[in-house]
Amino acid sequence: DREAQAEAIREATAAMADRMAAEKSVLTDLDSAIGDADHGANMNRGFQAALERLEDADDDPATLVKTVGVALVSEVGGAAGPLYGGSLMKASGELEEGVTAESSVAFAERYLETVEERGKASVGDKTMVDAITPAVHTYKKSIEVDDCDPLEALGKAVDAAERGVAFTTPIRAKKGRASYLGWRSVGHQDPGATSTLYLLEELLEVARE
Ligand code: ADP
Ligand code: MG
Ligand code: MG
Repeated sequence: DREAQAEAIREATAAMADRMAAEKSVLTDLDSAIGDADHGANMNRGFQAALERLEDADDDPATLVKTVGVALVSEVGGAAGPLYGGSLMKASGELEEGVTAESSVAFAERYLETVEERGKASVGDKTMVDAITPAVHTYKKSIEVDDCDPLEALGKAVDAAERGVAFTTPIRAKKGRASYLGWRSVGHQDPGATSTLYLLEELLEVARE
């Protein structure tokens, strides 16, 4: 029911916040190679703010996800803040009737669509889109074609995101700060794709419980 879903969203956000705190220096190191060394601090600050805002938010799945989005937009800053936060805000609308296999696919697709629309990046530009796209496509296919349950589909989506992150290393950045480096961005893993993977891993961990 809705209350259980709300509780799961609160738990997932807490797990994500812990993970962002734990990976702060990893993400910052990745961003120092091809950016301005703030991605870890940005994400950590954003998720701490999200936890605080969730304290007084109503126990409704769409409202909670939207609240996390608003916190990320206002606290993460940079390129990643509006992309993560704005896309969560937009996609949260798909959860208004609650979280089901069907609404979770719609949520995932809307999230990807919004990131692409706002960031104007496509697969192969060495951004978070390289992690999100294979994850969302795999999730959708696993549910709609392979008849997986959402948990199994999410497991496959995380594996796909992991391959997407690995794929960002050998390619040249075409969007965001890293693109200023041109060919010198080759050989470095993208920070935003990496944080996306970490967040999906935490979502999977909580979904397994
Ligand atoms: P900033 O680059 O403003 O310092 P962050 O360091 O927090 O912001 O985030 C950088 C990450 O944002 C990149 O690693 C990349 O994944 C993502 N990113 C940057 N520009 C775009 C874009 N146009 N579309 C999608 N993702 C992007
Ligand atoms: Mg940065
Ligand atoms: Mg910055």
